[in-house]
Amino acid sequence: MEKYNILLYYCYSHIEDPEAFREEHHRFCLEHRILGRIIVAEEGLNGTVSGLEEDCKAYMAHLKADPRFASIDFKVEENDKHAFQKLHVRVKPEIVHSSLRHIKPTERTGQHLSPEEFKKLKDAEDVVVLDVRSNYEHMMGKFKNAVTLDIENFRDFPEKIKEMEQELKGKKILTYCTGGIKCEKASAYLLEQGFENVYQLHGGIIKYGIEAGGEDFEGKCYVFDNRVAVDVNKVNPKIISTCHVCGTISGRMVNCANPVCNLHVPICENCGWELEGACSAECKEHPEKRPYDGTGYYQKEMNGYNPFKGLVRK
Ligand SMILES: [Zn+2]
Ligand SMILES: [Zn+2]
Repeated sequence: MEKYNILLYYCYSHIEDPEAFREEHHRFCLEHRILGRIIVAEEGLNGTVSGLEEDCKAYMAHLKADPRFASIDFKVEENDKHAFQKLHVRVKPEIVHSSLRHIKPTERTGQHLSPEEFKKLKDAEDVVVLDVRSNYEHMMGKFKNAVTLDIENFRDFPEKIKEMEQELKGKKILTYCTGGIKCEKASAYLLEQGFENVYQLHGGIIKYGIEAGGEDFEGKCYVFDNRVAVDVNKVNPKIISTCHVCGTISGRMVNCANPVCNLHVPICENCGWELEGACSAECKEHPEKRPYDGTGYYQKEMNGYNPFKGLVRK
């Protein structure tokens, strides 16, 4: 069987002409059969891509050969196929959408902790472990004892932090996200707000899973590719999500079979068959309902589509 890799990476580094870089980079990806999503901005690069192992190696070598991106820390995962159907290389104002455009992590950001350092520090007494991701991500999985934010989008992060000032004051704040990119700005923002002891998990949950066994991460980690969610904890895994229909513990993530709804929620095996893959009796009766094969996964709908759009926190 052919071996594929999934790469997750980002790099804050100045790109003088993002449009020109985009053209050239897009061509390189096509030539190397790389699929996925890459965002190019003046402030840097952010990508999640998949390809054959040797193509991914060439891709990483190509970026690292460029002095602007020599410091990229790739998170490399193995897979038996592509994790995307298409390739998108886009120029955007920021490499991660935030309301913190003025912040430059290259100038100042929270102290980076390696996965092992994070593991050692996270349970200390004066520490707050802060999940900077959105509802649809942390409801699927998070670090044990982490503080989560009720936000639908990273743009709402600053506003939430203002509400939490008392809770965070005087504490060591350890931020984490999926691959580390959001923490670069989130931790810089915390410093800007006057918090002094701010740390960030370098490489995020994904690297922590690879290098520290994922210890104490409960549930699954939401990812931005066709896998939707991955297991990261090989030490003490725990399922934290409950069936959207009956409330029993279930880590089985399903897209509602009604394509108009397409809600992405945990639904247990029994309820899945009972509702034929729909999230509710109403969706089960929808005229466009897709046939249910027991997986709750509909390939075409996933591409460039946020399965959590419109998801309401229960
Ligand atoms: Zn159920
Ligand atoms: Zn539905």
